[in-house]
Formats: sequence, C-alpha cells, structure tokens
Amino acid sequence: MSRCQDDLLELTADVLVIGGGLAGNWAAAAARRAGASVVLADKGYCGTSGVTATAGPGHWWIPPDPADLRETAIAARRKSGFGLNDAGWMARTLAKTWESLPTLETYKFSKDEKGATQYRALRGPEYMRALRQQSENLGVEILDHCPGLELLQRADGTIGGAQGIRRQAGGRWRVNCGAVILATGGTSFLSRLLGSHTNTGDGYLMAAEAGADFSGMEFTNYYTVAAKGSTMTRSMSYVFATYYDEDGEVIPIPAGLDTSRPLAAALLKGRVYCDLHKTPEDIRAKVPIISPNFLLPFHRWGIDPYRQRFEVTLHGEGTIRGIGGLRITGDNCETSVPGLYAAGDAATRELVAGAISGGGNINSAWALSSGQWAGEGAARFASSVRSRAPGRPIGQAGLQPDSAHTIDLRGALAIVQGEMLAYDRNIFRRGDRLLRTTRLLDDLWKVVSAHALGEGEGILRTRETAAMLATARWSAASALARDESRGMHRREDKPETDPRFAGSIVSGGLDAVWVNSASSQKMELAS
Ligand SMILES: Cc1cc2nc3c(=O)[nH]c(=O)nc-3n(C[C@H](O)[C@H](O)[C@H](O)COP(=O)(O)OP(=O)(O)OC[C@H]3O[C@@H](n4cnc5c(N)ncnc54)[C@H](O)[C@@H]3O)c2cc1C
Repeated sequence: MSRCQDDLLELTADVLVIGGGLAGNWAAAAARRAGASVVLADKGYCGTSGVTATAGPGHWWIPPDPADLRETAIAARRKSGFGLNDAGWMARTLAKTWESLPTLETYKFSKDEKGATQYRALRGPEYMRALRQQSENLGVEILDHCPGLELLQRADGTIGGAQGIRRQAGGRWRVNCGAVILATGGTSFLSRLLGSHTNTGDGYLMAAEAGADFSGMEFTNYYTVAAKGSTMTRSMSYVFATYYDEDGEVIPIPAGLDTSRPLAAALLKGRVYCDLHKTPEDIRAKVPIISPNFLLPFHRWGIDPYRQRFEVTLHGEGTIRGIGGLRITGDNCETSVPGLYAAGDAATRELVAGAISGGGNINSAWALSSGQWAGEGAARFASSVRSRAPGRPIGQAGLQPDSAHTIDLRGALAIVQGEMLAYDRNIFRRGDRLLRTTRLLDDLWKVVSAHALGEGEGILRTRETAAMLATARWSAASALARDESRGMHRREDKPETDPRFAGSIVSGGLDAVWVNSASSQKMELAS
C-alpha cells in the first residue's frame, strides 16, 4: 500500500531492505520468495551502486563432491583466519553460494573452452544489472535515490520501518513494515575506492541508535594499491606487479605477506612506482574481460602498464574489505535488536573470514548467502508481527541536536579520514596512538551529536559524517582493546598473537563507546 501526502511517500510492506547492492538484492529476492511484500531503498540507483557494480567479483566456489574438498578449504581458511571464523558458517556459505548462483537466470554466465559454465567469477556491472532484474521480476518495489536516514521502532522495541529522503523526486519517504534488513555495505571513510562513495556506514549508525552492537571492528585496515590519481582498485592486476622506490630500486615484497605493509612503509618514505611486466600473456588477455575498467586510466594517460612504470598509492577500504560490521546473533542474520537483520558488508564477516580480509572470494559468497538468510528470517519475523502502524523515529546525530550550531562537516570528515586512512596510524598501529585517536574522535562526537543539524540535501551529508565518525570510534576502540597482533590487525607495540584474545571483540554505544572482549569485562572507553 502506498500513500503520497504533502512531501511524504508512505509505503507499507512486510520487509524493507535498505541498500540495493549485492546483499540487498539477494535479500529482497529471498524475502519475496518466502511470500513477503518487499520494498528496497537504495541511496543511488539500484543496479549501478555499491562496490560490486565496478568490480569483477569472484565467489568462494567449491564443489560439494568429493566432500573433503570443502573440508580442506574450510580448515585452511580457519587457520588463515586466526581461529576467529566458524566452520559451520563457512560450510553454510559454501553450500548456499553453490546452490544459488546458478538460479540467477537474468545473468549470462560465461563458458570455458570445454563449454563448462563459469560461476565463480562474474562481471560486476552485468551481475548487478541482473540482480536488479531479478528483484523487479519478483515484484520488489525499488526506491532509487532514496537514502534511508533513520529507523522506526515500535513500542515493544522491535524495528518496524525506516524513513529517508527522495533525492531526485524531492520530499521524504517512510516505510512501515514488519522487519528491516540493513544491506548498506561497509564504509571506506570516503577514501577514493571505486564504487564506494555511497557507502558511508549509514546502516551502522541507524542500527547503533536502535541499540545493536558490532563485532570485529578492529579489522578495518585493508588497503588496495592503485595508480596514483586513479580510483581503479582492481587488486588482481597487481598480483604480478614489481614495485620500485624513488631511486629505482626494487621494493622487496616478502611472499605470503600482505603487500600493503611493505608498500605503506615505502610510501611513508617517498614515492612508489610500479610496472606489470611480469603479467603472463593469458592474464593480460583476460584483464579487459574480467576488469574492463582497469586499463582505462592508463589509456587516458598514454601509459602501457606492462612496459612502463607508473606511480602508485594505497586506498583504505575501512570495513569494505575489512571485516567488522553488525554482530550476527542467529542463523538468519539477526542483529541484537529484534526485527533488525544485517547482510553483506553491513554485517560482520568475521564468521567466515576470521581475522584476514574475505575479499577475493569469501565476501561475495557471504553477501549472497547472508542476504538470503536475512531475507528469509525477516519475512518470517514480519509474518509474526500484525501491526504495520508507524513506529517512532529514533535517529539522533544530525537529526535531533541539543542545540543546533553550524558544524564544519568537511573538517570533521578530514579528522576521521586522518585517523582511519593514514598508513602510520591505521596500518602501523600502536596502543598510545590508538588511545589518542579514541580521545580525539570521542571529543569530535560530542560536538557533532550535540550540535549538528542537517537540512535539505545537507541532512544526508550530516548523517553520513556522523556515521563515519561513529564507525571510526568503534574501530579505534576495538583496535585498542585487541592488545595483540592477529591477522590484519598488527600492533607495533604488541607484535605477538596472544591466546587471551582468541575470541571476538564486540563493540557498541554512541555517546559512550564500549568494547567487550573474551578477556575483559564490558568497559567504557569514552572519556
Ligand atoms: C574493488 C573491490 C573488489 C572486490 N572484489 C571481490 C571479489 O573478487 N570477491 C569477493 O568475494 N569480494 C570482493 N569484494 C567485496 C564485495 O564486493 C563486497 O563484499 C560486496 O559487494 C558486498 O555487498 P553489499 O551489498 O554488502 O555492499 P555493496 O555492494 O557496497 O552495496 C551497498 C549498497 O547500499 C547502498 N546504501 C548505502 N547507504 C545507504 C542508505 N543510507 N540508504 C540506502 N542505501 C544505502 C549503497 O548505495 C549500495 O548500493 C570486492 C570489493 C571491492 C571494493
């Protein structure tokens, strides 16, 4: 049911999905297949926004037979994930991915030379277009250019909808529903990571306002190499890269190590250059097909990257190919708030990735699987809730200030980016610097939450800034609490893995950020 009054478009549905990327579309499809009516709201245009739309995502794709193939892969991943991931969740994800991808009738899968259909690696732009088509065919009502700003909560504490703005049509939207799925992706704190400009952690903020908590937020320091001046972060193409310092000396990249650490160390000293002359011919032939955008900047600059050197930089990915996100409390991707579900990068990927990035195959498989589990769970929850009466809007920062004052949002974002993207702070972490970061961001939060008020288009920028600031605070607090090195979280002052931190770090809170690790009681970090 829909109603348009004054400047408000008001809709009623069983399930609302916020975010129309990879996870959101799979979630919407699953909820529809479970019999729910579904509205999906995306900040951009569903089918072109989100980080998959510019990528060439590969999936974690392992046949069920012989059975030991999956068992071996899971055991290997459990080891490389430093024990934070879970064999059961990995097995479910592999099975769900295997059974679901071939059902995507709207995508034209490639075939290899022997005629076998290729499901593992997909062409991102076409994949997203196919997912939108699937949602439309199933009768999902899609609201494009409609960012969600805040959740609606029923008197019993369950989540019963959300509201936001209509950027192109003008005015506002509100959906009253039985359950909400957050599929708003991760955030790279607006680093120049291709496809991530709409991913500003909005879902994390909305969920935290409802009281949801997070897991694995310390793992936010994944960085991707790109040609300087370009946003083209296609990591596959750099597997065969040779890096040089300003004097033309080759920068040694030890085998098996995350390349970002030696590169970041070199970048802190000066410029870094690269060429791709070691790339095998068959890979060169595949690059334009798998990553059609990758060569574009080079063509524009008149550079042959396979023969000539070019300058490179590292773009931070925050929680995108980091790990942290909303903590999952049940098999259907429930969050800690009833009626609120999380999928894809909005959810923690610790369950499947552990302490190292799941980018490269696991994250896409997770987005597809968690989306469907959340869709099924939300549909079931919605069927148990009779009322579709509007809930109470619970957004705070940027919406309900104590007293409104002009806030320098650019300045606030620059501070967040300074703490979350700078190599010396986020790659080479140290306890004293993290403590300083938590204090700085806590002080900034006090100002933003008490005084920022967004109006008109500015309302979105204000909420986005608050969301990135809040995300940075959970991340820094969790990194400080994980008083060891594990996976991608490397502490210069604590270089060893410590068995006391073998469990997850859970975090949450807005005015007072808290963390809770296996070895500590819940402790407040806000000063
Ligand atoms: C360069 C790159 C390459 C990658 N390659 C791989 C790979 O090969 N294999 C792999 O497993 N993983 C890969 N990944 C990771 C994978 O792409 C992600 O895990 C996956 O896209 C996550 O899907 P998602 O739907 O959660 O997020 P996204 O696809 O980012 O979608 C999030 C959506 O939410 C919308 N949104 C945000 N805020 C709001 C709001 N307030 N209201 C409404 N909508 C909102 C956004 O507009 C966007 O459409 C890669 C990531 C990157 C960055």
